[in-house]
Amino acid sequence: MNEGLAVFAKSLIGLYRWEPLRSCPNCEADRFAPHSTHRFGPLAIRLRSCGSCGLVAQSPRLTEPSLRRFYASDYHAHQGGRGAAHAAGQFERGMRRGAYIVRWLDEQGIRFRGGLVFELGCSYGGVLEAFRREGCRVQGCDVSAEAVAYGAARGLDLAAGSLEALPRAEQPADLILLSHVLEHVADPQRLLQRMRAALAPRGVLYVEVPGMRNPRTQQRRYAQPAHLWYFTLETARRVVEANGFRFMSGNEVVQGVFCPDAEAPVGASTT
Ligand SMILES: [Zn+2]
Repeated sequence: MNEGLAVFAKSLIGLYRWEPLRSCPNCEADRFAPHSTHRFGPLAIRLRSCGSCGLVAQSPRLTEPSLRRFYASDYHAHQGGRGAAHAAGQFERGMRRGAYIVRWLDEQGIRFRGGLVFELGCSYGGVLEAFRREGCRVQGCDVSAEAVAYGAARGLDLAAGSLEALPRAEQPADLILLSHVLEHVADPQRLLQRMRAALAPRGVLYVEVPGMRNPRTQQRRYAQPAHLWYFTLETARRVVEANGFRFMSGNEVVQGVFCPDAEAPVGASTT
């Protein structure tokens, strides 16, 4: 079954609506140059780059209500289905990803063991399980209630929801994980500023997004309706740093670690 077919058909009959990006979330410029066009089944995914800062964005993209509808329906089909076997597989996959993030953080000299690790977009909780096995306290949230229920049944402290699930963390997090989240959110500023407020003064933010210069992400499904932004290390760094963080280290995977920028007080940046 053609993956883009459902989105294409529903767009034709107006169930999914599309809108152009009005301004760059990074620099507020409103001029974009065509970057590239990708096939997603019968659907054309068009990317444009900001004429001022170079951030690459999908435009036009699904409107926010359409994106919500997409995540509640066709996105699941695209991700490979539902059911117990799928959930167990995703949890295992998450644990392997978590172990790989733990190793990478160790290589950067980042200390997190014994601390509170929070993951936004934790899916089934496999990544957090890897951190729990390293002696961390872990909390997470995800918009998929089904995924959260799976991890919670395995003793993980997970909540269904997005940013609104954050205040449940009574204390600031020592490490916040945003793994394959930033490219999905319509308003990265708002998300990053909330993460900044939830992070301990000496805490660390880990960001991972599919990198445009990473050969492994140059696959068929990279350009897709759910991916609103397309990053290099440089543009990812710019987006995160503009919202109260300072870059520590990173690569073109893209993986990056950031600390709170003491010069940029929480809530000081414009929303
Ligand atoms: Zn820009």
